Amino acid sequence: MKKMNNEGYRRFRTAMSLALMLLLTTNFSCKTVNSEKKKEHPNLTKLKAHSSEFTPEIIALGHNVYTAVGFDGSNTSMIVGEDGVIIIDALRALGAAEKVAVKFREITPKPVKAIVYTHGHGDHTGGASAFITNEKDVIIIAREGFKEELQDLSPVGEVLKRRNARQFGRNLPKKDIINRGVAPGYTSKDRVGQGYLPPNRTFNDSLFIKVAGVQLELYAADGETNDQLFVWTPQLKTLFSGDNYYKAFPNLYAIRGSRYRDVKEWGESIMKMSGFPVEHLVPGHTRPLSGKHRIHQCLDNYGTAILSVYDQTIKCMNDGYSLQQTVDHVKLPKTLAEQPNLQEFYGMIPWGVRSIYLHYVGWFDGSPSNLLPLSEMSEAKHMIEMVGGERKMLQYVKDAIKESSFQWALQLTDYLVCVGYEKAKVIDLRILILKSLASQQLNAPARNYYLSCAYELEN
Ligand SMILES: [Zn+2]
Repeated sequence: MKKMNNEGYRRFRTAMSLALMLLLTTNFSCKTVNSEKKKEHPNLTKLKAHSSEFTPEIIALGHNVYTAVGFDGSNTSMIVGEDGVIIIDALRALGAAEKVAVKFREITPKPVKAIVYTHGHGDHTGGASAFITNEKDVIIIAREGFKEELQDLSPVGEVLKRRNARQFGRNLPKKDIINRGVAPGYTSKDRVGQGYLPPNRTFNDSLFIKVAGVQLELYAADGETNDQLFVWTPQLKTLFSGDNYYKAFPNLYAIRGSRYRDVKEWGESIMKMSGFPVEHLVPGHTRPLSGKHRIHQCLDNYGTAILSVYDQTIKCMNDGYSLQQTVDHVKLPKTLAEQPNLQEFYGMIPWGVRSIYLHYVGWFDGSPSNLLPLSEMSEAKHMIEMVGGERKMLQYVKDAIKESSFQWALQLTDYLVCVGYEKAKVIDLRILILKSLASQQLNAPARNYYLSCAYELEN
């Protein structure tokens, strides 16, 4: 027999014990699956309840700040000054922004003196012109390098577009739409991006400026993007965090495909915010918060969680862990994991860990097995042969489904897809598996992604 190295032996043993486990558990699984079928998974119930964050509403924060939530994918706010107003972020669709602008003008007819973009993502910039009527000399403020990292002109633009549609569930049937984790399930399609106005004032580290009698302190704050900023208003004790904070675990990596988001800087940006005596906190998405103590706690646990994921990942890497071992190992301490603002509705810890890991060492995680792995086809053939042929493998897939081991079932179908065995049957099983995975997901992007892939197979 060919000599097997440790990695090879480990893989072989894992595969064999899983196969054995499946054999042993097959017989008494059918009943439980059927009775559970109708019951909604608690994660789904929780995700549905999270939709209350996106109920359309203009929320007054003190006397001079108004935040519009739920009118589009993100928030837009108005600060009322002495002789004019300041708009913070401008939604994505011009049509949605126009609706909010009408409501803002019902509150005050004062003209717009400035617009601040917290960062360059299209969902915060596309409706700006809606807020301006006849005003001239409107200051439009953003950070130096604004929008530079956007991947609009990426050579893999087609891939990004497809993945974006899956992440946000853009093509899902109505019955499957819940929410997008930090946005409602539906966002306006009325003239998307057509109200965008480019900035005419940019800064590097910080900008202190008085507009309509309101003192604004703008600070560069790398995080979700490298052009992110936050706005602090000392008179109103209100802080606009942009997308570095929202009520969900932060999206340290976006599955639609994103460049590295500087996780360490992100955590530190949040810690900096928590140093201000904030009485109202306006996130880029989800509802605003009021109350100094509560806000301080939220910012503090958020920053601590981000830095904890970062530090743990770095430690694992230095201790020689492989990528998957690191992913398996990094967890939030229980007290943080239970916080309502750190639930994984949007970002997920394993995705963040992978992103940090790859950022520092690239694709090779140090394990010799991964240096020159077998081709997909070769691995599939070996695995199928090992379990006793394609029919047997198909049976293992069915058994895994009965056991509700959907991830395992999905991975096994990869082998059958690869060799092209019983295509129609395997596709049907994959659709069932993907929908089952979706039905258990708390994370909206993951849920949307599974479902989108399932419907793509159906069609
Ligand atoms: Zn956003």
